[in-house]
Amino acid sequence: MLFESRELHGKFDERVAGHGFCPVCGREHSIALGHAVPEAKRLLSALLESRRVDLEVPDEEADPRLSIEPLFGEARGHMFGVLVCRDKTGATGVLKAFSGQMNGVWLVPGWVPPLVDVNLFEQTTAGTERYIKRLGRKIDSLPPDAPERAGLIERRRNLSRALMKDIHALYRIPNFKRQLKPVTEIATGKGGIPSGTGDCCAPKLLGYAARHSLTPLGVAEFYVGRENKARTKRNGAIYSSCKGKCGRILGHMLCGLEGA
Ligand SMILES: [Zn+2]
Ligand SMILES: [Zn+2]
Repeated sequence: MLFESRELHGKFDERVAGHGFCPVCGREHSIALGHAVPEAKRLLSALLESRRVDLEVPDEEADPRLSIEPLFGEARGHMFGVLVCRDKTGATGVLKAFSGQMNGVWLVPGWVPPLVDVNLFEQTTAGTERYIKRLGRKIDSLPPDAPERAGLIERRRNLSRALMKDIHALYRIPNFKRQLKPVTEIATGKGGIPSGTGDCCAPKLLGYAARHSLTPLGVAEFYVGRENKARTKRNGAIYSSCKGKCGRILGHMLCGLEGA
């Protein structure tokens, strides 16, 4: 069960946790931390105590790929998030997400799935990715002045670009007006859409809520693991939604949500 029932206590935290510009309404939409901070702390404790992300399975069935130990080493940390929401009956509860994949794993029981259809993603990317890697090996094996080298590099660049387009086409982004639109149509701002747009915790959580008629009341994203290289994230700290990726899609995603 992804939606875990929870009674809400304490004060509503008004601080903005996620936001983006909505071109349809011509203004920012935002969501507050609300009651999500205690839930984020609760999840953080559970992760630090069990040392793994597959919290729902017994120790002997734990997937070694889902250990959190690498997050404290060379791999460095990872973002996690919780969304406090209300279902149609008025009951309140919480959803949880990890950003992107955990060590190549998209789906873990108890955690919201990605916005993209995982099977479709694998089908779309696997062949081209293998081919791009093969091209890379071929390029590396050639002397720098080999005549066919430039052509192969050009070919690889075009393939990567085409693959990125194919991946973006797979991301269909819901909102609270029951609209489902391709990320290429709703992303605001200039320049190409960064890879991984839609894979952060906030869009995963909001997308799941929108698709399951849950009303978001607050969200909190936090970092677990060794400080990132840029030294902007530290273990256990809560961060508002990122600007580069989420800033471009949260305006659409939050559109139609009461109070946003
Ligand atoms: Zn983000
Ligand atoms: Zn709007």
